[in-house]
Amino acid sequence: MASVNPLLAPSGLPNEAPAFDKIKDRHFLSALRTAVKEARADIRALKNNPETPTFANTIEALELAGERLSILSSLLSNQMLAAGTPKLKATEDKISPLRARFNMAALTDTKIFKRVKAVWDQHHDDPTLTTEQHTLLKKTYDGFRNGGALLKGADKKRLKEIVEEMSTLDSDFSENVKKDVEAFAMIITDKDDLKGIPEDAVAAAAEEAKTRGLENQWVFTLDYPSYGPVASYAENRSLREKMWRAYGSRGWQTEHDNQELIRRILTLKHERAQLLGYNNHAETVLEDRMAQTPQTVATFLDQLKNVYKPAALKDMESLRAFAAQMGHDDLKPWDITFYAEKQKQELYGFSSEDLKPYFPLEKVLAGTFQHFSQQFGIQFSENKQYPTWHPDVKAFDVTDEKTGAFVGTLYTDFHPRKGKKGGAWMTDYRAQGLYQGQIERPVIAIECNFTKPLPGKPALLDHDEVTTLFHELGHAVHGLVSDVTYRSKASPYVPWDAVELPSQVQENWAFTRETLALISGHYQTGEKIPEDLYQKMVASKNYMAGAAGLRQVNLATLDQAWYNTNPKDIEDKFGFNIFAFEEAVTADTRLFPMLAGPTSTSFTHIFSGGYDAGYYSYKWAEVLDADAFEYLTELTTYDSYRLNKYRKEFLAKGGTDNPATLYRNFRGQDADPQALPRREGLLPPKPTFM
Ligand SMILES: [Zn+2]
Repeated sequence: MASVNPLLAPSGLPNEAPAFDKIKDRHFLSALRTAVKEARADIRALKNNPETPTFANTIEALELAGERLSILSSLLSNQMLAAGTPKLKATEDKISPLRARFNMAALTDTKIFKRVKAVWDQHHDDPTLTTEQHTLLKKTYDGFRNGGALLKGADKKRLKEIVEEMSTLDSDFSENVKKDVEAFAMIITDKDDLKGIPEDAVAAAAEEAKTRGLENQWVFTLDYPSYGPVASYAENRSLREKMWRAYGSRGWQTEHDNQELIRRILTLKHERAQLLGYNNHAETVLEDRMAQTPQTVATFLDQLKNVYKPAALKDMESLRAFAAQMGHDDLKPWDITFYAEKQKQELYGFSSEDLKPYFPLEKVLAGTFQHFSQQFGIQFSENKQYPTWHPDVKAFDVTDEKTGAFVGTLYTDFHPRKGKKGGAWMTDYRAQGLYQGQIERPVIAIECNFTKPLPGKPALLDHDEVTTLFHELGHAVHGLVSDVTYRSKASPYVPWDAVELPSQVQENWAFTRETLALISGHYQTGEKIPEDLYQKMVASKNYMAGAAGLRQVNLATLDQAWYNTNPKDIEDKFGFNIFAFEEAVTADTRLFPMLAGPTSTSFTHIFSGGYDAGYYSYKWAEVLDADAFEYLTELTTYDSYRLNKYRKEFLAKGGTDNPATLYRNFRGQDADPQALPRREGLLPPKPTFM
């Protein structure tokens, strides 16, 4: 008898969590094939529905179509990241074209669009729909519209050509940058040149030389682990300059030049935006984001620039004086990291190792759970009934402290292993929302790569790892407290200039004395972090905040300029000279003249990474988290009234409305951009009323 595929049967586990004890790699392919078939059948039924289109039989039906496909696809991608095997990879390679074809077919189907448009025309002002339903309706309609569903004849054909031509340009762009990185090697033959560079970096350079057949020599490359230590520590200034220039000229006047690709990408994106009825590409991107318009982003960046610029000039003055003391005048861009490293050491002189004994993982985790229950009244209790994908993984039931109501399932997976991706992230196996006519609670995981404990010694975290834990659990709690109807609108599925608020805001607490008391204690003596160490840790956080802030504003300004300027104007004014355009639009946010190539030709974030017209999101999210934290802790570290408002009005509402509206409902006003420089010590703190 053929056994049942565990991926196609109910697991019967708490919260219908996946049966990791029964699921094997070989089960995925056939289960996913079944799921694709079911998804196609859902779409056919929707297309051929003889009834008049309504919200329920069209918009909701489209939202719910392919339920099993979406659950199994998350399961597969989550397992590939947490416990990847060649077999899972092969399955993904087979399934992803099928899934892409299915999505494409559904999203460009004219019969379905006719139904969607009928619902849109009739109900887009309908007061009987909820806010969430309006958001879902608009998002669905816009998806078709931006795919060209309203275009006819030659315009429709042209849009298709544009999309097709664009499909390879972004990978060509990043490929060029990669090839320029690979083409560069700095070969050192004189041992004296290595002065200052840390031992392990030198050893890696010797190893690199050996793989290239060079004995008793050292090879440094533009990969960060090789370039970073040279930039920070090499006493031979000409080595730093050489690498800095090569790094700054990637994609510019090299064999893998990106200038023509930039012109092509910008021209096509602009043409597409105009076909779809927008003025420029930035408008199409920003429409659904929290910022909404290019004008809002411009004002935002300008306000930050006004604070960061003078602060950055002061930072440079101080660094210049520091370098002069050491006998070095005429500070250049390739000296910045080098002297900053030394100045930071002199000012704060502590290492991340000094803090580690105070952060044993068990204590940190228990304290962090306590921190979240103090914030939101939720409780975490380990539940061994859940099977997991590895013995290191633990599962928790999350419940409401007062009512005992079930909130969701949380897995924690803290240590590296073969087949697991590096870094840290939060993910869900099932988002909160509607499944088979029932609203279900979420199944969520956080993945980290903290050092594994040695026998007889607990795992000790450094403070960066502690803030990582707060960050990822911040994302997890956002997902856990989600309270929506449709899973595509569940937390944390919000526009991505808002998605980092719930995570980043939590990091702030990891610097407060009160929270540190919950999460730290010397692993041998239980002792608290000594006051002087604590002070240094807090102060070092803001070192060179002005210069760093101005750099981010510079990049975001450049990104906006490329995408909200008509390429024809760039042609008329600058002859499409990439260097000249960049020089002009960044004149006010640079501390040095451009001494190498333009940043644009290697700016993969905006020309191939999906951050086009969205680079400002980094600073935007920081402003939100600084503003939210300032408000939430204005009266006391744990202000249950305000925290509850934050949970109810912002966290729980996910993507049901524009986050700008949700934020205003929680905060009573928009975020104040100056909250960020206040936190960074660049502006005086807000006066308190006590
Ligand atoms: Zn994050």
